[in-house]
Amino acid sequence: MANQERLINTLLELIKIDSPSGEEDAIDAEVSSRLESMGLDVAHDAYRNVIANLEGVGNPFILSAHLDTVEPGRGIKPVVDEGIVRSDGSTILGGDCKAGVAIILEGLQSALEQNNGNRAIEIVFTRHEEGGLVGAHNLDFSMIAGKVGIVFDGEGPPNRIILQAPSQNVVTATITGRAAHAGLEPEKGISALLIAADILGRLPLGRIDDETTSNIGRMEGGLKRNIVPEMAFLDGEFRSRSNSKLADLEAKFHGVFHEVASRYPEAKINLDITNSYQAYDIDPESETVEIIVRALADIGLEPILKSTGGGSDANVFIEKGIAAIPVGIGVRDFHTTWETAVISEVMLGAQMCERLVISP
Ligand SMILES: [Zn+2]
Repeated sequence: MANQERLINTLLELIKIDSPSGEEDAIDAEVSSRLESMGLDVAHDAYRNVIANLEGVGNPFILSAHLDTVEPGRGIKPVVDEGIVRSDGSTILGGDCKAGVAIILEGLQSALEQNNGNRAIEIVFTRHEEGGLVGAHNLDFSMIAGKVGIVFDGEGPPNRIILQAPSQNVVTATITGRAAHAGLEPEKGISALLIAADILGRLPLGRIDDETTSNIGRMEGGLKRNIVPEMAFLDGEFRSRSNSKLADLEAKFHGVFHEVASRYPEAKINLDITNSYQAYDIDPESETVEIIVRALADIGLEPILKSTGGGSDANVFIEKGIAAIPVGIGVRDFHTTWETAVISEVMLGAQMCERLVISP
């Protein structure tokens, strides 16, 4: 049976290992050795994502989470306080996604301790999920046989199952005007910041509709108070669960940039829009959902089927034809210094995971 004390100890140990995106070697070593000591075959692909196999009955079921965390995420000091785990307030907690990793490790271990047979399992721990699903995009799918699974990376309790998620397009723009002395000859300058502001004022931003959002999250530019700013930079994104709305928004962005560019013929405006992941919409009657719902029922939970505005490794799995879908990991307020993990919910995740591993 899943052991809450061991689960929380694992969670705390994982949280204390620094693993900002791109620096996952230490956490990789820790989880790989834990998987090996449970008797799994642990391999890495060329990107150093962890792929481990547990032989068993039936087609493999994938249990996945990511190893990296966002910043500020170094020297995290987890505090256990009245049924929750939080940081000391100076960093994130890193419950995203360490709670997912801990759930998988405890689920596996408690299932194997029963020594009563198990489902075939594939563990996939990705690197660099935050800020672009980089590990998943580089995952060697030829090493993965499973067609169904779970990505332990959702908010809330483990019966919160995410069946729809949006596509995301990333927007970057560089605006080059002309520098000039602001006091002596400002008329010779072209302010890149003014052009950027003009663009910003015309773009469709914020909530566009119930399944579409748009944001410019960063605007930078200029050098000094007394120089007309020559360079400006915009960094943003837009998302929609509808690909036609995504395409509409992309056309609108191009339209605004063209319009503004035509007003400043001497400036140079470069716009780049790149898709970072694809939307998905999973049938609630599908095999994956059925398997998860059965494991939830075993521990007395009803599923809560949800859609989200966020992306996860699940978007990449599903794009590759693998129905691995996100469920909650008991964590709240991802990516904030007030992020918490609710111990009772993390425990429910481990119990559900244990049921999944045991019952084919
Ligand atoms: Zn995450």
